[in-house]
Amino acid sequence: MEEEQEDDISLSENLDENGFPFLPSSSPQPEQTNDKPIDTIEESFSSEFYRGGTDWSGLLGNEKKKKKLKQANLFQLWGFKKPQEEESTLITRVSSLPAKAEEEKKQVVASSSGFGGRKPKGRDNQRRVCPFYKKIPGTPFTVDAFRYGGVEGCSAYFLSHFHYDHYGGLSKGWSHGPIYCTPLTARLVKMCLSVNPSFVYPMEFDTEHAIEGVKVTMLEANHCPGAALIHFRFQDGRCFLHTGDFRACKLMQTHPLLTNQRVSTLYLDTTYCNPKYKFPPKEDVLSFVVKVTRTSLKRQPKTLIVVGAYSIGKECVYLSISKALGVKIYANASRRRILQSYDWPELSDNLCSNGQDSPLHVLPISSLRHETLKQYLETYTPQYTAILAFRPTGWTYSETTGNHLDLIKPAIKGNSTIYGVPYSEHSSFLELREFVQFLKPDKIIPTVNVGNAATRDKMQSCFRQWLKS
Ligand SMILES: [Zn+2]
Repeated sequence: MEEEQEDDISLSENLDENGFPFLPSSSPQPEQTNDKPIDTIEESFSSEFYRGGTDWSGLLGNEKKKKKLKQANLFQLWGFKKPQEEESTLITRVSSLPAKAEEEKKQVVASSSGFGGRKPKGRDNQRRVCPFYKKIPGTPFTVDAFRYGGVEGCSAYFLSHFHYDHYGGLSKGWSHGPIYCTPLTARLVKMCLSVNPSFVYPMEFDTEHAIEGVKVTMLEANHCPGAALIHFRFQDGRCFLHTGDFRACKLMQTHPLLTNQRVSTLYLDTTYCNPKYKFPPKEDVLSFVVKVTRTSLKRQPKTLIVVGAYSIGKECVYLSISKALGVKIYANASRRRILQSYDWPELSDNLCSNGQDSPLHVLPISSLRHETLKQYLETYTPQYTAILAFRPTGWTYSETTGNHLDLIKPAIKGNSTIYGVPYSEHSSFLELREFVQFLKPDKIIPTVNVGNAATRDKMQSCFRQWLKS
């Protein structure tokens, strides 16, 4: 598994080196082409899953053998169409769209020029079909399903957070239905993607909203700013929880919605659902980063500190250095614009717009190479004579270091030092296990790394183990 995938780093021609969409221009933007590798993975999973069939009975916990679910029954239970029917549906859309708009969209799909003159790769112009794990059965809801155009029967599109692999497909021209997300995500969607504000519905955290007869609440996900767990409560009392991307923590176990009501179905961020993924708590990594910085400055006071960043998230890595040293944070104008939109005064009050005003700089993660860093340092000579960079990764595999941060060996070349630090905004394997054992859901639907049958089987075997009472 590539680090880039795990770490929300979906390098794309649609994104700049900072992981943000290119600023919209005044000319009409073509719709995103849906030809990214991640789409292929999701689509092929969907087809493969349908073809191969999966017995989910192992996920039923106590009910086990008595209620052995068959694949067909599960589809019926959830109200899904048979795969053949879905596969043949090139595009589906919200039925309430005016006839003219419907007709226009048919034309867009029928003509490859609707994708900026380029043919979508290898799919015979077919729009991809929204996979089942992005739908909430028994509702007209989808979660993080924007790359499929309008989804048949969907009248409410939820967005868990502003990372490309979740919002991909959203663009200025979005008109398939209302988008529900947290206020911060809503601001980013409007600011970075120029989505028509009339389609964007911000929902404050911890406030229940009635949508299509379902009570929906956004919960803090402990991932990137604005990221939410989405809690659905149906009229019959059943609750579903979609984690989006999250890092499970003790605090979540005290949330009234999760302690007082049983969650029957859990859509789970399984990014690190493998026992090999062990990493320390975020706080430990932040202390380590501050300690290394202080030691380096003691040795060489003229050291420029760089933190690599991609897209949104991991802001605490540079904020903790800023607070510990009492220095401002330098970031370029486009990143400052994003950071200032967070409504996070501790962060926005500490930004500066001139690189010479602070020894702490945020750079695109792609610049964290010795040669690039040395060139960067030269532009600040003689103010600084050495450079210390941190690359916050999701996980860095090393049998020897494990959770022992002090064993991390930096890459050093001359006056350039680079530390990879395991600062993760996804749950570790043990955190996942603890969260699942706390919730005790009847069913778990993994949402990450589902493209491979062997991985899916391993995950299901984990879930069975965890849910054994
Ligand atoms: Zn994410």
